[in-house]
Amino acid sequence: MENDERRQLLLGLPKVDLHRHLEGSLRLGTLLELGRRYNLDLPLDSEASLAPQVTFREGQPRTLDNFLAKFRADWYRSFADVERVAREAVEDAAAEGVVYLELRFSPEHLTRESRLQVLGVIQAVCEAGRLAGEDSGCQVNFLLTFARERLDAKSWPRIVEDGLRCHHLGVVGVDLAGDEFRHPNRLFGDFFARVRDTGVLHVTVHAGEGTDAGSVASAIEVLGAERIGHGLETVNDSRVIELVRRRRVALEMCPISNYQTGCVDDVSSHPLPRLDEQQLAVTINSDDPAMHGADLTDNYDLAVSRWGFDLERLLHLELAAARAAFVTEDERRQLLQRINAGYAACRGQGL
Ligand SMILES: [Zn+2]
Repeated sequence: MENDERRQLLLGLPKVDLHRHLEGSLRLGTLLELGRRYNLDLPLDSEASLAPQVTFREGQPRTLDNFLAKFRADWYRSFADVERVAREAVEDAAAEGVVYLELRFSPEHLTRESRLQVLGVIQAVCEAGRLAGEDSGCQVNFLLTFARERLDAKSWPRIVEDGLRCHHLGVVGVDLAGDEFRHPNRLFGDFFARVRDTGVLHVTVHAGEGTDAGSVASAIEVLGAERIGHGLETVNDSRVIELVRRRRVALEMCPISNYQTGCVDDVSSHPLPRLDEQQLAVTINSDDPAMHGADLTDNYDLAVSRWGFDLERLLHLELAAARAAFVTEDERRQLLQRINAGYAACRGQGL
């Protein structure tokens, strides 16, 4: 199948994205407008001049540091800004064929420069995101992300309390992100015990992205992670493979992101196919589509062109994602049905 034709087919498939950051989903045009409005110290002549500062470009160092430096907290100055980026992120996901999205965002990041109230910001993201989802046929839930390097025993539990108040708006879990090397899982045990005590919020943890399989194991055993962000290193340790399988922990893998941050040398050698063959619940996600210049469909396209996946194998990953989604059992049944129906409509087509 020609590349364009294949992309069209993949675009039309119903997709689940469990791992997408709002802060990595900002449209270039929106950033240009906000940057000009707030006089940010950036090359704001055009989208082309701004792009290398806020998106990954081939030729830039493939390191997590290069990537993390692109996240700025000064775009957002008002609730209207926050609502706008949330709405646009969901609209863009829906346009990629995403029918269920867990959009994660950091209340701390969104309020750091703006000094907006945390509860108000969480409400703004959820209300705007949900509305955009209803308009475009995409169910949306939200995860609160906490950055390891900003651990704060006072403010973090308060943010979780505010998140709980927005459970009815779709806040379903808590995520831990950031530098695993300098801020290992053991520092976050108390915090996640409190999260789990809510009895409502789920736990997912970025782990084994550039560290080792031990970080995946401790995210599960110490923090109670039900899902792991990335988890690349799992493949190197049979004990951890067994732990992930036994606990039915799903891996939220983001192949293009992993290549751009230098966590894999080449997408062809990405561990996803091998972990899938080991009967782990692996899923394909976008991470930071605007920053990567690659959306969820591009990640699926890669699975086909580089790993030789066919429709049946993509469906298998999609169903794994639906099974790992933080939704009610009724919602899960509907989601599984929707995915099966979408794939059935394409059955018989080669890729
Ligand atoms: Zn991530």
